[in-house]
Amino acid sequence: MAQKGILVVVSGFSGVGKGTLMKCLVERYSNYALSISATTRSPREGEVDGREYFFRTRDEFQTMINGGELIEYACYCENFYGTPQKYVEEQMEQGKDVILEIEIQGALNIKKKYPEALLLFVMPPSAAVLKERLEGRGTESPEVIDARLRRACEESEGIENYDFILVNDDLDVCVKQMHGLITDQRWRVNRNLDFINEIRTEIKAFSKGEV
Ligand code: 5GP
Repeated sequence: MAQKGILVVVSGFSGVGKGTLMKCLVERYSNYALSISATTRSPREGEVDGREYFFRTRDEFQTMINGGELIEYACYCENFYGTPQKYVEEQMEQGKDVILEIEIQGALNIKKKYPEALLLFVMPPSAAVLKERLEGRGTESPEVIDARLRRACEESEGIENYDFILVNDDLDVCVKQMHGLITDQRWRVNRNLDFINEIRTEIKAFSKGEV
């Protein structure tokens, strides 16, 4: 049986380029499944329901919470965002490494529920670059940009809860590093206990001269 997939949480400040990173990762390597979140925020230009997000009303989102459909949810800059459970569990069972691109509150809740999850935090090469990227995106009003920068301040206090940081300076390098970190998780001792025990038993048998 294939090993169960790895659950990977990717967070990072708004504007750090997480979306592009994720897109590049799934295009380049085949073993990833990108979870699609539900949100109450309005679609940005070009975003499609069921592709970037499941866009839902507050009532619909509340129904998902009440029905236990979300493994985590959080409020971010006055909108709700949450991860549907079914897809994540199914993909992991099939051996896919599932990526959740979520903010810090959600990341911490995932770590509580799935202690073996890998938590990655994407950093900009500098604060100035982050501000430039956020302003240059041109999809948000100055008020929203300010709110997101304030939120980045808060989030920066929580980075120590993550397992690794990734610096998104050169996209190509960052994608390779991310893939490397995720693939290395397959060699964790606690993911390989069956194999370890098999070898252990065989060595014991050899040492006793049974084989
Ligand atoms: P945006 O509005 O820029 O698409 O996303 C805003 C923030 O919400 C980002 O930090 C993004 O990672 C986070 N986010 C997206 N989906 C989820 C989710 O399902 N749960 C949580 N907790 N955060 C999410």
